[in-house]
Amino acid sequence: MNDLADRLARRIGEQGPISLADYMAAASAHYYARRDPFGARGDFVTAPEISQMFGELIGLWCIETWRAMNAPPRVVLAELGPGRGTLMRDALRAARLAPDFLAAAELHLVETSAALREKQRDVLAVHRPVWHERAEELPDGPLLLVANEFFDALPVQQYVRGENGWRERRVGIAHGQFAFELGDPCAETMEASPGAIREHSAEAAALAAWLGGRVARQGGAALIVDYGYTQGSGGDTVQALKAHRRHDLLRDPGEADVTAHVDFAALAQEAAKAGARILGPVEQGMFLHRLGIAARAAKLMEASPAQASTIAVGLRRLTDPDAMGTLFKALAIADPAVPMLAGFA
Ligand code: SAH
Repeated sequence: MNDLADRLARRIGEQGPISLADYMAAASAHYYARRDPFGARGDFVTAPEISQMFGELIGLWCIETWRAMNAPPRVVLAELGPGRGTLMRDALRAARLAPDFLAAAELHLVETSAALREKQRDVLAVHRPVWHERAEELPDGPLLLVANEFFDALPVQQYVRGENGWRERRVGIAHGQFAFELGDPCAETMEASPGAIREHSAEAAALAAWLGGRVARQGGAALIVDYGYTQGSGGDTVQALKAHRRHDLLRDPGEADVTAHVDFAALAQEAAKAGARILGPVEQGMFLHRLGIAARAAKLMEASPAQASTIAVGLRRLTDPDAMGTLFKALAIADPAVPMLAGFA
C-alpha cells in the first residue's frame, strides 16, 4: 500500500465508508501533486501536447472574443489546470499578432499541483503569471478563461438504483481491500431499472454556476473543452488510467489518473441559471475546423516540409471522429452582451 492508501484506509476505519467523490478527490490531488503525467512515457496525452495548432487556435479565439467584448484595456486571462503550460504558451505566441491584446491580458493560472506549477513557470515566466488554488480567487474584471481537460478531473458522486430507490456509491474496506458499497437511500426519485448508475459532479456544477455568474456580472467568456456527453447520463464513466491503460480504480489510489466524462448539459444548465449565455457544446473537430485548423496546418507544412507528416497526424488526431474529433466538445459560457464567439457558428 502507498501512503495515500494507508491514510484513506485509516480514515475509513475511523469514520466508515467515504463517498466515491471524496475518494476521487484525494486520489487526484495525490496523483497530480508530484508528477508530470503527460506524454508517451506518461499516463495520457492531451490536445495541446499533440499539436501546437490547438493552443494557437485557442489564442486566436481569445483575441477575437476580446475584440467582441469591445477590447477592454485590462482583461483577466485565466486557465484552469494548465498542465505543462503548453496550451497557454502556444496561445500567447499566436497572440503576438495582436500586441494590443497582449498588453491588456493579465495571466492567471489556477493550479493545485506544485510540480506542475514549476513546469508552468518554466514556459510562461515571461508573461508573469499569478497562481491560484481555486477559480473563485481570480481577481475581479472582464474574464477570458480556458479549461482543457480540467473538468474531467473533478470528483463525481455516483448513485446506484436499488430495489428501493437510489443510494450513493461509497468506498469502504472489505477483506483488507478497498471495495464499493452503498449508502442510505437518498431523496432522488428518478425512474430507472435496478442497477442503473447516475453520475453528478457537485464540484463541476458549482464551478459552472460561479463562472456563469462571474461573466454575466463582470463580462467575458469561458471556453471549456473536454470529453463527455451532451444528454442523458453516461452511466458509470469513472476511469483510472496508468501508462495509457485502464487501471483498477480501487487499487493504489493516487498512482493513476482518475477522470469522469463531463456532463455538458449539467454545466450549461448551471451557468445559464446564473445568467450566462451558453454556446455549444460543439464537437472538437467541428470547432477547430471553424477556427481554421486546416489552413493553419497547410501553412505550417509549407513553412516546415520536413514536419509535414507530423503536422498531418496532429490534425487527424485532434479532429477525426475516431480520434478526439467527436468525443471531445467545446462549450462557451459567456456574458450575454458578447455578440458572437468564434467556432460556435
Ligand atoms: N490543461 C492541460 C492539463 C490537463 S490535466 C492539458 O490540456 O494538457 C488536469 C490539470 O488540472 C492538471 O494541471 C492538474 O494538476 C490540474 N487540476 C486537477 N484538479 C484540480 C483542481 N481541483 N484544482 C486545480 N487544478 C487541478
